[in-house]
Amino acid sequence: MNLLDFIEFNFISIIDIVLVAILMYQLYKLVRGTVAINIFIGLTSIYLLWKLVNALHMELLSEILGQFIGGGLIILVIVFQQELRKFLIMIGRAKLIKNKGFFKFNLSKEGGNLDVGTIIKACEDFSKDKTGALLVITHADDLAFFSESGVQIQAKISIPLLKSIFFKNSPLHDGAVIVNDNKIIAARCVLPVTNNTDFPAYLGMRHRAAVGISEESDAVVIIVSEQNGKISFAKEGELTLNCTIEKLEKLLLTYAKSIIA
Ligand code: ATP
Ligand code: MG
Repeated sequence: MNLLDFIEFNFISIIDIVLVAILMYQLYKLVRGTVAINIFIGLTSIYLLWKLVNALHMELLSEILGQFIGGGLIILVIVFQQELRKFLIMIGRAKLIKNKGFFKFNLSKEGGNLDVGTIIKACEDFSKDKTGALLVITHADDLAFFSESGVQIQAKISIPLLKSIFFKNSPLHDGAVIVNDNKIIAARCVLPVTNNTDFPAYLGMRHRAAVGISEESDAVVIIVSEQNGKISFAKEGELTLNCTIEKLEKLLLTYAKSIIA
């Protein structure tokens, strides 16, 4: 082996190791705090047990476990269906590259028309009179599947409209409102809830649903609690609790800017 081969081997190996490390870290981030981590430990234990019974020549047990491991890939796909989905969505979003500006393409149809002022004012009023609200603001992913679960509105966003939707006795107040640009697409939508086992127990289904949809899409979500009027903001599966109006405005403006960028 000459020197050049050696250098190339090392260089490629380093890239290989770095890529595997990144992949493992991303996978860890996906399963961290979910039941999937227990399944992962369970599968690893079975694999180690299989290796052990193999070494001890315990034919029968080894064969049974061997069959189980043989179907491993299919089992992994079934068991980690949710995590694989999130992983593929994450790649689809081209999140890492997009943020660095190498891969900028504007996915939103009309991005930048988000009516931040109206949303802020409505949330401020909801917070004051403790009206529960769940507002999903979409970007590239239009969440058509979830809009269809609700009642179609397709109207320009306005404070009176938002108030009449979330008014306690309104038939539309349950569930989420989906907003795109300056338009309310649908109300009464049912969202997927997060499976995160670390999720604070004192937060209910509205907050769980907000985090759930922000994990599965590039939408941001505003939650106003019916119990205490507190405003929270969910983005990429992270929840910012107890936002002041100023903080919410800042978060929304940053988001609106990222839409036009
Ligand atoms: P709050 O602080 O306002 O009480 P919470 O997080 O405690 O919010 P819950 O009290 O469990 O939430 O639910 C309140 C409302 O949240 C429900 O009445 C419903 O309108 C809405 N909600 C609950 N789950 C979902 C869901 N999966 N998708 C959309 N909306 C939901
Ligand atoms: Mg509640």
